[in-house]
Amino acid sequence: MATWQCVKQCGACCNLDPAERPEIEEYLTPEELELYLSMVGEGGWCINFDHITRECRIYPHRPRFCRVEPEIFQQMYGIEAEELNDFAIECCQQQIEGVYGDRSLEMLRFDQAVGI
Ligand code: SF4
Ligand code: SF4
Repeated sequence: MATWQCVKQCGACCNLDPAERPEIEEYLTPEELELYLSMVGEGGWCINFDHITRECRIYPHRPRFCRVEPEIFQQMYGIEAEELNDFAIECCQQQIEGVYGDRSLEMLRFDQAVGI
C-alpha cells in the first residue's frame, strides 16, 4: 500500500497561485484567505519558500493550511483520518503535476517515496 510522505526537494504545494486553486475560498476562513493571498509572490510561489533549499523558511510557524495533519484535513476538507493517506497522495500528485509536470523528476521521486 502506498504511504504518504512529503519528499525533500519538492515544494510543489508552496506554489500558491490562486488561479490553480479556484476552490480555496471554500476551505479557508476569511482571515486565512487574507493571509494566503498575502503570501503569494512571484510566479505564484509563497514568499516563505526558499527556492535554493526548496524548504519553508517558517516551517515551525507555517499556517494551518500548510499542515498535513489528520485534525486539520478533517476540519478543512471533511476527510476522515482513514482517508487521509490516499487524499494526501492525490493532492500532492495534482500539485506536482501542475507545477512540475506529470513526468517530472519531482513526480518520479514522490511516487517512488510513497511506494507507487
Ligand atoms: S507537494 Fe507533497 S511532496 Fe511536494 S512539498 Fe508538498 S507535501 Fe511535500
Ligand atoms: S508557509 Fe511554508 S509550507 Fe506554507 S506555502 Fe509557504 S513555504 Fe510552503
